[in-house]
Amino acid sequence: MASRWLTCLCLVICFISNPETARAWGFMAHRYINESAVYLLPQPLLGYMLQYKDELRDRAVAADQRRAWDPQEAARHFIDLDHWGDSVFYCMPMNWGDAIRCYHEDSLREHGVLPWHTVTVYRRLVNAFVRGDAESVCRHAADLGHYLADAHVPLHLCSNYNGQFTGQHGIHALLESRIPEYFIDQMLLPFKRPRWIPDVRLSIWDIIRESSAPLASVFDCERRCRTTLPIPWQFSPIQQGSRLVRKESKEFVQCYDQCLGGLMGQRLSASIHNVASWWWSAWIEAGQPKGVTRMDKRTFGQKEKGLSIPVSEIEEIQVDTITSLRVLNQQSKECDER
Ligand SMILES: [Zn+2]
Repeated sequence: MASRWLTCLCLVICFISNPETARAWGFMAHRYINESAVYLLPQPLLGYMLQYKDELRDRAVAADQRRAWDPQEAARHFIDLDHWGDSVFYCMPMNWGDAIRCYHEDSLREHGVLPWHTVTVYRRLVNAFVRGDAESVCRHAADLGHYLADAHVPLHLCSNYNGQFTGQHGIHALLESRIPEYFIDQMLLPFKRPRWIPDVRLSIWDIIRESSAPLASVFDCERRCRTTLPIPWQFSPIQQGSRLVRKESKEFVQCYDQCLGGLMGQRLSASIHNVASWWWSAWIEAGQPKGVTRMDKRTFGQKEKGLSIPVSEIEEIQVDTITSLRVLNQQSKECDER
């Protein structure tokens, strides 16, 4: 626990001093995902969200920025699947209430609450659509885009998230910031139309399962490129603001991207598709409201600045409005019996 908090503290310091390299997709990619997702939406939601595409893009990184002052925030961006073992996809309850009945809440928070918190933010977006509150729609849609995007990155799903246990320090920024920064124009796959998601709890775990599958390659490829490329070719000085910093060279990042077979392009495209699908599903679940109040862009975001963010952010999901539920908690009983 202490080491996790020390790591979080270091990350916050790192984030404040250099926000682009904190534990995140990278600001550029997060903004790109939210903005691109707007254009995938069908009408009439497209017309509505298009008015606010700048806010949705700019607020795509607000969840990362909150980590600087909200101690609860860091845990919402990851889950350490390896901590829970191979049975996590079968045994871990999808409802937060069931999860804290099976496992100690501190332990769940220490090892990340990304799947549960993403669903909570989805519920808030549904409620914002129901209320017709444009500012809340923008805030929760932007946050939802952020957490969903994080769930598409393999290194958000394991405890060795920055290669700290395997001598691969810095692999996190290499994978999710350096690759998009260099190759975003070449890495996108054709877009698919958004799909209706009948149960977001199943969807988030499907996303996490798919995103975590290539974790072994993520580490192996970095090692392979370190051994095949001569050390002088692995780094180059890069201008960052007024400073020159030593970072992985374009040749090294290209070696890594090719070894991964375009993995990050797939994850980026899947992020955009799923963000659009979740937004669209929230609007449908809210009853497809047409009358949403216009937002005053001059005051947007001011409400949140003075807000003290509640400590217990994860809410029990209201299931009565979900149209298609599969039985989720048979596994919870097995956990209870342990
Ligand atoms: Zn994040």
